[in-house]
Amino acid sequence: MKKPVPLTRDLVLIGGGHTHALVLRKWGMAPLPGVRLTVINPGPTAPYSGMLPGFVAGHYSRDDLDIDLVRLCRFAGARIIVGRATALDPQARTITVDGRGDIAYDVASVDVGITSDMPMLPGFADHGIPAKPLGRFSARWEAFRAETATPQVAVIGGGVAGAELAMAMAHALHERGHQDAAVHLIDRGKVLGDFAPPARDRLLAALDDQGVVRVEGADVAEVTADAVHLADGRRIESRFTTGAAGAQPQGWLAETGLDCHAGYLSVGPTLQTSSAHVFAVGDCAHLGFDPRPKAGVFAVREAPVLHHNLVAHLSNRPLRRFKPQKDYLKLISLGGKTALAEKLGTARRGRLLWRWKDRIDRTFMRRFDDLPVMTPEAPARAATGVAETIGRTPPCSGCGAKVGGSALVTALGGLPVPGRADVVSRPGDDAAVLSMGGTQQVLSTDHLSAVTEDPALMARIAANHALGDIWAMGAAPQSALVSVILPRMTPALQTRTLAEITRAASEVMAQAGAEIVGGHTTQGAETTLGFTVTGLAEAAPITVQGAVSGDALILTKPIGSGTILAAEMRGLARGPDVLACHEAMVQGQGDASRLLREARAMTDVTGFGLAGHLSAICRASGTGAELDAVPLLPGALDLARAGVRSTLFDDNVAHALPVTGPEGPLRDLLFDPQTGGGLLAAVAGDAAEETCAALCAAGYPARLIGRVTEGTGISLQT
Ligand SMILES: Cc1cc2nc3c(=O)[nH]c(=O)nc-3n(C[C@H](O)[C@H](O)[C@H](O)COP(=O)(O)OP(=O)(O)OC[C@H]3O[C@@H](n4cnc5c(N)ncnc54)[C@H](O)[C@@H]3O)c2cc1C
Repeated sequence: MKKPVPLTRDLVLIGGGHTHALVLRKWGMAPLPGVRLTVINPGPTAPYSGMLPGFVAGHYSRDDLDIDLVRLCRFAGARIIVGRATALDPQARTITVDGRGDIAYDVASVDVGITSDMPMLPGFADHGIPAKPLGRFSARWEAFRAETATPQVAVIGGGVAGAELAMAMAHALHERGHQDAAVHLIDRGKVLGDFAPPARDRLLAALDDQGVVRVEGADVAEVTADAVHLADGRRIESRFTTGAAGAQPQGWLAETGLDCHAGYLSVGPTLQTSSAHVFAVGDCAHLGFDPRPKAGVFAVREAPVLHHNLVAHLSNRPLRRFKPQKDYLKLISLGGKTALAEKLGTARRGRLLWRWKDRIDRTFMRRFDDLPVMTPEAPARAATGVAETIGRTPPCSGCGAKVGGSALVTALGGLPVPGRADVVSRPGDDAAVLSMGGTQQVLSTDHLSAVTEDPALMARIAANHALGDIWAMGAAPQSALVSVILPRMTPALQTRTLAEITRAASEVMAQAGAEIVGGHTTQGAETTLGFTVTGLAEAAPITVQGAVSGDALILTKPIGSGTILAAEMRGLARGPDVLACHEAMVQGQGDASRLLREARAMTDVTGFGLAGHLSAICRASGTGAELDAVPLLPGALDLARAGVRSTLFDDNVAHALPVTGPEGPLRDLLFDPQTGGGLLAAVAGDAAEETCAALCAAGYPARLIGRVTEGTGISLQT
């Protein structure tokens, strides 16, 4: 059987800018075997600047504007590390990521755009918002546009970006009925001073049409919550102050020791910096061999050359040269659905031009929405059923890859009843209980196939998942053994990967009060991480038995991770929802377990889904249950409504008690396998509100989701 190609090189893309987004798409179409690809970006999405003015004006939604890097990385087989790079060491070949430590690379590329020095202006950091990074700006503008009663805006920096923003803001406020909106465009020189007639005249006319007030030859002295104060004493009323001037390179670039020009990374025609293993593109790079202004069009045009050169450098082939165009067509939006086209000094203005710009921008973004589905091909010669199985939905990972309850019950049914006096646990409890000289030790093991390409994040998910059984028994974590399966890779990559895994796992264990005391590592088909954990129970461990009718049911985390992870594997989940799901999965339950110490029965919600684990409590306690307010992870309901299900769904339905209630996505999500799920506790009715409030105060999204009832079965009330 053909062995998967071993991983031999780490390629790290720093920043999800325009160039890297296009490189990721190309990479997904034809990945270079043997390369592990990593993307570092502060968020799950990267805004496309061409559509920013249209978004500000209200012509586009935030989703229209955002390139979903999580989906793109899944398509490219890359891991995404959500964080900000703060340093790069070309000697050690490491990148430092805020809150994450060092990431090693063999080849790196930097596409982090620019920042703006507006925050240096007195008061700007507190009362202003720079146009870049686009993500933060868009969120603040969206809120202001929707809520403001005082439509006063000031834009500092009268270049093309500032002018576009000012016209878009004026249009948006007018569209919202603020005919009295005051939008000022402030520049220490001339507004649009870089443009020559007739383009400049037409743009100035467009600014006038939108009622934008130009303030020229003005130095800004200070920004306050309600005004911009000029050095000459004038005061400009403003409740939303932004700036598209003062483009600055990020400070850490110059600290890399790589050659720089005014703080921007200098690159040669092959887009390599002074280190052959580091490339740079887009606004953060200086094309030393043929300088160009900072514009997205160059970042976009660099993409095919960068892609070629990364592949060539990693496979010892000849590199290509980038030839930047002398001039480029600027399509400038004028607020409403009109635009001005300018190139080589000619300028035209009109609705048709806006529609043309709209088509260009939407075509650009469609490349990231319509990602082709790369389905694995069935071998020509194979046993019957192979092609269909390959053709079916790929099997889920994480807890979704768990063997179903029915097979487990049948297989474990054959196990002899424990006879040792010091083994006091019962089948169905979350962990085994050993009694040693009056001390009760709980013991459990879990392993998960990777739900993310990021081994450190996977270590956090798997460690919290395994600790869930200890916390569900009300015990304090004590020790852990780690078991790691890595796909084939060179010893260098093994070392890097294990270092990331052990660093993350030991942080989680230390936070839980446990120690990693050993482990075992092998190579295999896919990354799989597991933990065998022990805990100490000061009092009798909490089990699934003991719930009584009238108890309230408390759940400490929303459900839906199985569906979201299944959708993510198929490129169907929104990046921000995947991130929210990851964050929920890595939230430790130690404090929750302590706050639920008085629970009559408790379990953690994992592979069998909420219905399956509630069934375990009902079966062991001889009760039924009623559910009426089950919290869901963002995006889970829409995906379930769209028919996305974990491959473990059918088995979970068969394994759980009958669930009555309205059919539909909410009911289906009750059978959704959870990875790193929350604690489900049955507590005395009169203590429920207080306990739930204490959990929320401790930072848990805990909810009262229903109650224990007489009889059997689970009923869903909505
Ligand atoms: C209002 C406005 C309108 C514009 N309109 C146009 C236009 O119509 N046409 C045009 O050609 N240009 C336009 N531009 C210029 C254009 O925005 C930039 O030239 C373009 O965004 C540069 O792309 P980039 O890939 O270099 O960086 P960016 O698009 O800025 O992307 C950088 C990425 O890196 C990430 N990042 C930042 N710091 C870090 C870090 N430390 N670690 C990891 N990741 C990081 C960011 O989150 C982002 O995802 C406009 C600019 C503005 C402000």
